[in-house]
Amino acid sequence: MKRWKGWGDPEKNYPIPDSGKDYLIQILGSSQNLPDISEPEIIESTPPSRLGNIDFISTEAMDRIRHSCGQSLPDWIRIHAGTIPRVTDGVSYPQTHEEIKMVIKFAQDNQIVLIPYGGGTSVVGHINPPKTDKPVLTLDLSRMNQLLGMDETSRIATFQAGIRGPEIESVLNKAGYTLGHFPQSFEFSTLGGWIASRSCGQQSYYYGRIENLFRGGHLITPVGDLNLQPVPASSAGPDLKQFILGSEGRLGIISQAIVQVVPLPEFEEFYGIFFKDWEAGLSAVREITHNRVQVSMLRLSDAQETLTTLILSGKDNIVRAASTGLSAFGFGEQKCLLILGVTGEKNIASTARKSALQICRKHGGLNTGSFIGKSWQKSRFLTPYLRNSLWEAGYALDTLETAVTWDRLTLLKKKIMSAISRAGEDRNLRILVFGHLSHVYQTGGSIYITYLFRRSPEPEENLEIWEEIKSAVSKEIIVGGGTISHQHGVGNDHKEYFVQEIGSLGVNFLQHSNKFFDHVSILNPHVLIDPENKETFQANESSVDEY
Ligand SMILES: Cc1cc2nc3c(=O)[nH]c(=O)nc-3n(C[C@H](O)[C@H](O)[C@H](O)COP(=O)(O)OP(=O)(O)OC[C@H]3O[C@@H](n4cnc5c(N)ncnc54)[C@H](O)[C@@H]3O)c2cc1C
Repeated sequence: MKRWKGWGDPEKNYPIPDSGKDYLIQILGSSQNLPDISEPEIIESTPPSRLGNIDFISTEAMDRIRHSCGQSLPDWIRIHAGTIPRVTDGVSYPQTHEEIKMVIKFAQDNQIVLIPYGGGTSVVGHINPPKTDKPVLTLDLSRMNQLLGMDETSRIATFQAGIRGPEIESVLNKAGYTLGHFPQSFEFSTLGGWIASRSCGQQSYYYGRIENLFRGGHLITPVGDLNLQPVPASSAGPDLKQFILGSEGRLGIISQAIVQVVPLPEFEEFYGIFFKDWEAGLSAVREITHNRVQVSMLRLSDAQETLTTLILSGKDNIVRAASTGLSAFGFGEQKCLLILGVTGEKNIASTARKSALQICRKHGGLNTGSFIGKSWQKSRFLTPYLRNSLWEAGYALDTLETAVTWDRLTLLKKKIMSAISRAGEDRNLRILVFGHLSHVYQTGGSIYITYLFRRSPEPEENLEIWEEIKSAVSKEIIVGGGTISHQHGVGNDHKEYFVQEIGSLGVNFLQHSNKFFDHVSILNPHVLIDPENKETFQANESSVDEY
């Protein structure tokens, strides 16, 4: 069971260490815990369902509330304040293909908007009920969570699409395998959700992004089923798998997915390496990538994130000793931490480790061993729980991300961070902003930014701050030639900017294909692109020239 407001398992917590509290007060100012809505109050304020009494639909208020918000900052603000603009009218939990088909037909015949729901961990407004006069039904796939088959010779496994990360790993690990897809939302996100939103796991550099792992599967659409075989490669026309990837529930329901698996790694270790500044770390990461050194993760934090991570780790004595030691070697305030992951067969991993560390040394990197890496590994899925503690302490946290070619990366990162700070300055609000390079490719990398501010007692004001930041940053991303999302998807929050990214021909093509599969527009009509293209932000030539 997930918390109904906030992140994760109600039994798990990540408290803010005392030194962390002081640090936040120093940067953001002192905060206070603000009252939130209680469960009985939110139930009381939920409008009645428009769906009536139907045996395969739950209209229970808490069920509907839980399925009406994801994990974006607006979702957090609204669910905590009890101001969810629209609550889904019901939730259906199919267990078979036939039941999914029945629900789709019911929605088609009755003009009901249907929202496919995996784990509800979306951070870009994928699963929120849209503004519509039609009733809304959420189709929750959590009961479709079985392994259907495993072919060890071909190293592929077939799963029902509603299976969550830990369930996948548990069943595969028992057979000696892993999928290796570890987004930070791993505990609650699902295979179908990963495919539908083109997700990226923390060790994608080694295991691949979800598009590399997804080998075939079954999509149930309002006009029929699409069944894609797991051929290893093909030159038979365009790859329809690519069409399902990132479809965000617009085309149909992914009921099954065939994924490639690999044996559990013989060796895995994460190392903490410090660089004197961002540029030095970035040069090392780029060289490791260009030399195709087979490491599993390269995550480079900027100076502010390095400092914040160390302080929030709560290991005050060690952090103090490390800082003193590092400054003796000339690593000052601009120092940046790289977490380097090495995974795989022992000999290959050992060679990769040596080559990567050699390149780091060449760029002035100091390897502090596996202590920091182990602590990162231990808390990799616990860190999101810190957001609950921060919220309770009166701080709002949000993240955003993009990917761009190497030549533009540092400038775009700077511009995004300045845009966030400027939004705060305009309101006389202090904002703590930091970031890291989280995924790397031959031609560039992804930039992942986190920002925190002291939340206002007025939920609407917090929403305005979010909106200003989202708009300013998205514009910077488009001008800077980045993608509007490297891993979170388009959803509702990015669709205005996605149009810029793919152009009007791309938009028309997607609109027509959506219409082909879903001619009455019942499936997630509010995400990815609007049924009618509307005028959007245009990048101006002079700002583009800066790159
Ligand atoms: C704390 C936290 C950390 C995160 N870290 C990462 C990360 O490291 N990497 C990353 O990529 N993302 C991350 N995310 C974002 C999010 O977890 C991903 O987008 C994830 O892929 C969503 O999966 P889900 O099962 O929760 O899908 P949902 O949120 O339920 O749905 C997402 C979209 O997919 C559609 N969908 C879901 N299942 C199906 C299906 N079976 N058939 C058709 N459509 C479907 C929905 O309609 C919706 O449009 C994070 C989110 C949080 C809150």
